[in-house]
Amino acid sequence: MTLYPEQYFKNILEIDVELLKKHGIEGLILDVDNTLIDLDKKMLPGTVEWINTLKQAGIKFYILSNSNKKEKVKKVAEVLGIPYFYFGMKPLKSGFKKVAKLMQLEHEKIGVVGDQIFTDVIGARRCHMYPILVQPIGEKDIWITRIKRPFEQKIIDQFQKKKGEEKK
Ligand SMILES: [Mg+2]
Repeated sequence: MTLYPEQYFKNILEIDVELLKKHGIEGLILDVDNTLIDLDKKMLPGTVEWINTLKQAGIKFYILSNSNKKEKVKKVAEVLGIPYFYFGMKPLKSGFKKVAKLMQLEHEKIGVVGDQIFTDVIGARRCHMYPILVQPIGEKDIWITRIKRPFEQKIIDQFQKKKGEEKK
């Protein structure tokens, strides 16, 4: 199993309908912390418009967060008008499987969007979903994430290098 994402973007706003259609993606599972909101709970500007544009194109959404803070996750979900599942235990498969079922989509048609390789990307890979990695929108991380970042950066660097070589 590869630790690489399929796509790597600065933030969610760079994910467009064309890309999703091209890869047969009909639904997106979204991470919350540092993907949709920063550690101060501030949402990335433009998120609501981005969701609505993709919704209009028929893309389904579900939030899958590892956070155990229900109220925080619920609030984000309400603002965006999409269902949520919190305390998701990513990269374990159970949360992804449950959400896929609720979305009524085959795993191959689901993109997983998140800022962490060790939870979002690996979880997606294990479930045969399409991993889309984004850069964390905030500078701050909780301690456990901070420990993982240097390892992630190494994998991201390798991935970028590999992609660069493929283009040559
Ligand atoms: Mg995250």
